[in-house]
Amino acid sequence: MSRIDAVVVGSGPNGLAAAITIAQTGRSVVLFEAADTIGGGCRSAELTLPGFVHDVCSAIHPFAVASPAFRSLPLEAHGLTWVEPPVMAAHPLDGGRAAAVYRSVERTANELGDDRHAYADLFGPLVESWPRIENAVLGPLRWPKHPLALARFGFRALQSAEGLARRWFSSVPARALVGGMAAHGMLPLDKPLTAGIGVTLMLMAHVAGWCFPRGGAQRLSDALAAHFRLLRGEIVTGHPIRSVRDLPPARAILFDLSPRPLLRIAGELFPRSYRHALQRYRYGLGVFKVDWALADPIAWRDPLCGESATVHLGGTLDEIARSEREPWNGHASDRPFVLLAQPTLFDPTRAPAGRHTAWAYCHVPSGSATDMLPHIEDQIERVAPGFRDRVLARSVMQPADIEHMNPNLVGGDIAAGVSDLGQFFTRPTWRTYSTPARGLYICSASTPPGVGVHGMCGYFAAQRALDEVLRE
Ligand SMILES: Cc1cc2nc3c(=O)[nH]c(=O)nc-3n(C[C@H](O)[C@H](O)[C@H](O)COP(=O)(O)OP(=O)(O)OC[C@H]3O[C@@H](n4cnc5c(N)ncnc54)[C@H](O)[C@@H]3O)c2cc1C
Repeated sequence: MSRIDAVVVGSGPNGLAAAITIAQTGRSVVLFEAADTIGGGCRSAELTLPGFVHDVCSAIHPFAVASPAFRSLPLEAHGLTWVEPPVMAAHPLDGGRAAAVYRSVERTANELGDDRHAYADLFGPLVESWPRIENAVLGPLRWPKHPLALARFGFRALQSAEGLARRWFSSVPARALVGGMAAHGMLPLDKPLTAGIGVTLMLMAHVAGWCFPRGGAQRLSDALAAHFRLLRGEIVTGHPIRSVRDLPPARAILFDLSPRPLLRIAGELFPRSYRHALQRYRYGLGVFKVDWALADPIAWRDPLCGESATVHLGGTLDEIARSEREPWNGHASDRPFVLLAQPTLFDPTRAPAGRHTAWAYCHVPSGSATDMLPHIEDQIERVAPGFRDRVLARSVMQPADIEHMNPNLVGGDIAAGVSDLGQFFTRPTWRTYSTPARGLYICSASTPPGVGVHGMCGYFAAQRALDEVLRE
């Protein structure tokens, strides 16, 4: 191989974003991926039966739509079509009714009864200021260009989700909505910053939409890869990197890896203090995931749930808070909070005619071997009786399977590291994308702004490499 400017290890959304960001400047980039298919946490496969296309990891992509890194790319020209369901997220409650987040703040507020003014007062100004704060929220800690707008967001975000929900809202549905959104963060809801996770996800519903790629998550990765190749980038799949010494010489090497696999591959090049800092990096809760092939759509008690690709199952704020605290304290919850996606309601290309798929997961202690399938299906039956009768086939992934599939996800932690206050802004260390070894960078979700399909970690890591070692 002739002289290469940059090598990227790993083709997750951040690896692809890093590779594209550097290739866009005319520099040569080669990307190595261990798996036979590209995409990492953004892939699709026939996990159950022939003709049923499931998302192996991520299913719903509001951050990808909102991402300044992806938004500027001509991905539609490479076959990407976003599907936006009528409702962004539904949250069924006992008694047959569901709360919902719509694209419009006004409509969401209007359906929240006594809490309608509180909802509009909370989200109206944040939506209005989003264009001024998006780079700060979806990026590393820096001196903000719009400190006042960011301070308003930050003041809400730093609170706990339970605190914010109880202070702003009085109704069960509004509080449950906040709890369900914040529970994506894989933290107990009384921890600081969990409000920020919930508020940001709700903001995404209003500013970008809870969309997903027609045909499956793989289409987004394929479109990114096609664009990268158009920029003369090279992708080598089925090529696990076992040591940094296996890589061709390059001026910059960007690892789409979390600290533990990075230490295995490149630890010898780092000083002891940095190795220790990476060893101290904390991984969080694991995930138990199920994919179903279904004979029919899920028959929700409240038909509103059939208007959304995303359904949050777990009942009230108190119930969700309990179900997230339990795994944090080391016990799998028998009434887990379940995130469910049902893309085929809006994208028939993913299943044989008239058939459907569903995707769901819940949080469990790191590496837990507890079988959560009955508990997950009980939570669905609670608000959609007869669900089990519709199942044609199931595919289950326990935390160990998730880590085996992708070594970044230690113990099944799909966020590649805890996102609490101590580790949110300074992940994996205060150096974020840089390492003490010149030319070596980290570009994975273990850097700011963390978990999610947005490519912003890759984008910022690539900018750092361009500034530091790829300048001329
Ligand atoms: C079950 C699950 C559900 C999720 N749901 C959502 C969702 O709905 N929406 C959302 O926005 N996010 C979701 N996420 C999170 C999202 O997928 C991740 O945050 C995102 O993929 C992180 O991207 P990344 O590029 O940092 O790393 P990854 O996607 O982890 O990619 C890393 C890549 O590196 C490769 N690799 C690892 N080691 C080596 C090596 N030694 N040599 C070569 N290649 C290597 C891996 O095979 C992988 O392809 C989910 C994740 C999981 C697992």
